[in-house]
Amino acid sequence: MTYKASILTLYPQMFPGSLGHSLAGRALQRDNWSLEVVQIRDFATDKHRTVDDTPAGGGAGMVLRADVLGRALDHASPKGDKRPRLLMSPRGKPLTQKRVRDLAAADGIVLVCGRFEGVDQRVIEGRDLEEVSIGDYILSGGEVAASVVLDAIIRLLPGVMGNVASGDFESFENGLLEHPHYTRPAEWEGRSIPEILTSGDHAKVAKWQREQAEELTRKRRPDLIEDDG
Ligand code: SAH
Repeated sequence: MTYKASILTLYPQMFPGSLGHSLAGRALQRDNWSLEVVQIRDFATDKHRTVDDTPAGGGAGMVLRADVLGRALDHASPKGDKRPRLLMSPRGKPLTQKRVRDLAAADGIVLVCGRFEGVDQRVIEGRDLEEVSIGDYILSGGEVAASVVLDAIIRLLPGVMGNVASGDFESFENGLLEHPHYTRPAEWEGRSIPEILTSGDHAKVAKWQREQAEELTRKRRPDLIEDDG
């Protein structure tokens, strides 16, 4: 089954971008997922193909028009399309690995990339857009955020990750940050690999990794422990 992603943007040339390479790129070639990129500007009707206008009530910047974005959405995701529709927005609910898992279980996704000061509130309400943030900072546009959301989803799609087990022990999957990693050479600039990791005692290794993960989480992200995942 192919996971169907549709992205609405004023900068279609930004896609697939990073998603055309490595794991996501190979998955795209294999049809684990498909990508439709819609140019919002194609749905403007005036001769200058205007997509934005000044904010009602005054203030700085411009706002993406509801009528133009509404038409683009109706084209990309007509009535009856069951895919979730997300608007990239710093006002949205912050993305979590749990939400990514839920999204990866759907048939696909529709991602709207904002620009300027944002989009007209009426299209958010009228087209059931769920606002999603990738963190508490402001980007210049939603394109990078949409790539982040899709990247996180794609690696969870069936058949995408070679080593299926590797998805289960990563940061956040068990409510903890991941333990540190080491590989050859055994010694580098006077630093050696923790002895336990080369002992061959799998139970001890697992215990050490768990302890490291817990300590790291306590130090760096106590909020994850309080939240209980
Ligand atoms: N004036 C807005 C910021 C607009 S930034 C405010 O203060 O809330 C322009 C666009 O970039 C947004 O419409 C959104 O699509 C995208 N964007 C910016 N920061 C983002 C973030 N942290 N997460 C997701 N999308 C973001």
